[in-house]
Amino acid sequence: MKPSPLLIATALALGFAAPGFAASSGPRFYGDPPDDHHPWAVHDGNRPQPKTVVPGTFSSADQPGRPPSDAVVLFDGAGLEKWRTDKGQPAPWRIVDGCLQAEPGTGKILTKELIGDCQLHIEWAAPRKVEGSSQGRGNSGIFFMDRLEIQVLDSYQNVTYADGHAGAYYGINPPMALPVRPPGEFQVCDIVFRRPIYQGRQVLDPGYVTVFINGVLVQDHTPLEGAGGHRQRTKAGPFPEKGPLSLQDHGNPTRFRNIWYRELPPRPAEGGTDGYLTAEAARAKRQEIAAAIRQDAATLRNPANPLPQMLRLMESLVYQIDPAALEQASAMAMAHAKSIEGLPPAQLAAKKDEVKNLSDTYAYLIKSKILPADFAPQSAFERIIRAQGWDKKPR
Ligand code: MG
Repeated sequence: MKPSPLLIATALALGFAAPGFAASSGPRFYGDPPDDHHPWAVHDGNRPQPKTVVPGTFSSADQPGRPPSDAVVLFDGAGLEKWRTDKGQPAPWRIVDGCLQAEPGTGKILTKELIGDCQLHIEWAAPRKVEGSSQGRGNSGIFFMDRLEIQVLDSYQNVTYADGHAGAYYGINPPMALPVRPPGEFQVCDIVFRRPIYQGRQVLDPGYVTVFINGVLVQDHTPLEGAGGHRQRTKAGPFPEKGPLSLQDHGNPTRFRNIWYRELPPRPAEGGTDGYLTAEAARAKRQEIAAAIRQDAATLRNPANPLPQMLRLMESLVYQIDPAALEQASAMAMAHAKSIEGLPPAQLAAKKDEVKNLSDTYAYLIKSKILPADFAPQSAFERIIRAQGWDKKPR
């Protein structure tokens, strides 16, 4: 169900969406209120807007695409200034036809910058000339935090152990499919990496890796079990907050292009406020939202038109019952209801929408146990609405 245009229009006219507060224009007093694990109401108009990202373009066989606007570019064909050896020397790999080509025997290369949770985009091509077999064919790898490897391998009509194929979380989880193109052609690889989060020895979030190759899902939110590795079964454990991304030299001149990443927002386990929160975190965020709205309400003070401030104060109560705010808003509502009750009949008709909308708001707050069931302004409005026949459906 969507909010009716009338409800939104009236809400705006009444000052429900005040300027200066987290660019928001959604409905208020509408969806189920915040609860013990969600600091926002359902469809909350106060919830910050997602950031705007200008999307990039997709790659073709010959041409790498353009990254989205918030991507950090690690390699775009121009240079290797973002990369180093593990001894901190300039990266010795070659740039061939705008592609980054592994230089066998020189060792892995690592990003200079440290990267945490991310969405990584990378494209790779196994050598066109097929040499070797199994793990010896077109082998490289994408290492997160220089630890766990998402395998890069020429898996096209090549048999090897399943957990060593292209797209494997190497040594731990095989790719669910092998949607690979023939050697020499670029494979488009998109990875979502979430590191494990620990509090002491307690796992708050095991961390996950999700991988698409050429648009086909090959790792589906696979929980992390340590770095993985050759012949070794590793155990889950903490990772650093950030680390370098590295590309493996496994003796094959694998090529890479169009490498970029986007930082990901924090999860609830590390202070993020979207998702299912602990009761403690939800309470803290609700207090913060309520305080910001109360502050905004103070800027709306206007004795000639007290409704915007009153409604904003009532909004704050949805997140946290602050006795002073409750008392102030209730007193304003009482005074307003009295002024409506005192109107001569001829002037009352003009207040129909205002009264009905406020009555809906009070009903929401009563239902949410924020206002008492016998809230006097609501009783007054219900009497007026019945007496005026405003509760009857138009014929
Ligand atoms: Mg490898």
